Amino acid sequence: MAQNQPVSGLQTTLFFETAAEIYIRVFRDLKPRTKPPEVQVEFCPFANADSFIRLTDAGMRVRIADLLEGAPAPVMEALAYILLGKLFRRPVPRLYAHRYRLYLNRRDMRRQMHLIRQIRGRKFVSGPSGTHHNLEEVFEELNARFFDGLMARPLLGWSRSASRSMLGHFDPSHNAIIISRIFDSPKVPRVGLEYVVFHEMLHLRYPVDHAGARRRVHTREFRAAEKAFPELPQAKEILKRL
Ligand SMILES: [Zn+2]
Repeated sequence: MAQNQPVSGLQTTLFFETAAEIYIRVFRDLKPRTKPPEVQVEFCPFANADSFIRLTDAGMRVRIADLLEGAPAPVMEALAYILLGKLFRRPVPRLYAHRYRLYLNRRDMRRQMHLIRQIRGRKFVSGPSGTHHNLEEVFEELNARFFDGLMARPLLGWSRSASRSMLGHFDPSHNAIIISRIFDSPKVPRVGLEYVVFHEMLHLRYPVDHAGARRRVHTREFRAAEKAFPELPQAKEILKRL
């Protein structure tokens, strides 16, 4: 490139912009008739990849997970479209949503996220014994029945609240299975609890499948293995009536 040739073209601009300039450009693209506000971008030590945007009289404040501090400019641009889209309730163009997901799904990013969660995420694990059920007992019964007793026991705990929306989850960063306290009751048949623990054990057995931008949690193998649980229909009925 000749020395005095002006820098032009979107591609070139993108790589010379600061994060704040990217937000101003995307703002102009979404709201061409509105004067862009002052933009302040900050990278914060969050425990995950979440980012936040807020618009006040003082200007626009963007807080991005520091996990993304070294992200390439096109990824920052994609995130700007996602955050500003949310702020203005505009659909996010697929191109940007896809680009952002693709980046976070990269093996190195997933690894880093995993480490960050381990270090920064404060995990609440109550211990296996509840008022009515002991998760260790349930786990070991299922382990003997379905896994030849070979599955290493993760941390087992009850959730703080009796959640209906989150019945159980496996947290790979802390190697913990957390079960909703809703099952720690004589009113809920034990087979419901057994099914949820079994489901989470299968998450331990069948890791999430990452392919490109996709993330498949319940793989075909997972679904097939779940069918080994003989009381599956009864258990699903119980969950419906919680
Ligand atoms: Zn699941």
